[in-house]
Amino acid sequence: MAEIIDGKKIASQIKEEAKQRAAELKNAGYRIALAVVCVGDDPASGIYVRNKKKACADIGIESLSYELPEETTQEELLALIDKLNRMEECSGILVQLPLPSHIDENAVIRAIDPAKDVDGFHPENVGALCIGQPGLVPCTPAGIIELLKRSGIEIEGKECVVVGRSNIVGKPMALLLLRENGTVTVAHSRTRNLEELCRRADILIAAVGRPRIITKDYIKEGAVVIDVGIHRNEANKLCGDVDFESVKERCSAITPVPGGVGPMTIAMLMDNCVQAVFMAHEKEKGGKAPDGDRE
Ligand code: NDP
Repeated sequence: MAEIIDGKKIASQIKEEAKQRAAELKNAGYRIALAVVCVGDDPASGIYVRNKKKACADIGIESLSYELPEETTQEELLALIDKLNRMEECSGILVQLPLPSHIDENAVIRAIDPAKDVDGFHPENVGALCIGQPGLVPCTPAGIIELLKRSGIEIEGKECVVVGRSNIVGKPMALLLLRENGTVTVAHSRTRNLEELCRRADILIAAVGRPRIITKDYIKEGAVVIDVGIHRNEANKLCGDVDFESVKERCSAITPVPGGVGPMTIAMLMDNCVQAVFMAHEKEKGGKAPDGDRE
């Protein structure tokens, strides 16, 4: 019987650590504030934004809220980002995606000061991750690395297969596993023999966006399975990309949906908000800010 990796528990440990680091930074006179920018009234985005604000309040991070109407132009949004980039009291900027179709998401991401880019999507942060330099890392894959490490799962030397190559999950996930010395294969919609490829994995990360596509036939006996997907099934219950019931009989550890990767994403966002302040002041001082980096 597989170990069920408890994402809620690990996320609350990370949030507690972020809270302590935030308090230390604030005691040393630093200000931590996250600006959340939302354009339009997508109901799902509304829920995410509320959850982010609540997490900020729990951790002691100020939140600045910008709710803009659907018809906001790209120029208006870029002007707001420019203002937030220059605003000293704002240490992190998050633009809730997706944006309305008349706005170029890439232009918006590029406009954010990389030092305030708590989502880790700016090309400068992506490049830093790629060449092994410090930077802000996308929250979902960073959270998965924490789930693995804090569950005592070794990555070094393991065959890791990532199914999905999106910019927010699959690609940064592959880079992070590589940084941890995993041997990484990335699969996508054009991959041949996906089932056979997945069966090679000691660690399988499913970030496909297809409900329960990964069945037990894709799993090597004893593998670790991380399910990133979030869907509603026929009974309107949450499920993932992995067929949990059949897969848990074959693997050694698995994340559930809900309660696995999901809670980690917001915990790592809080961690990034603290990390952004820590890195900015370390750079400014050319020395060390209070408390060390986790790594
Ligand atoms: P995207 O749709 O951006 O990417 C999906 C990836 O899966 C693509 O690279 C695509 O390949 C690949 N893919 C699609 N179909 C197949 C297939 N049949 N076989 C192999 N590969 C396939 O999704 P995201 O990366 O943004 O998200 C993935 C899932 O994770 C979604 O369910 C999303 O809701 C969830 N998610 C959960 C988060 C959390 O906090 N738990 C955070 C972010 C996402 P190609 O590139 O060739 O099109």
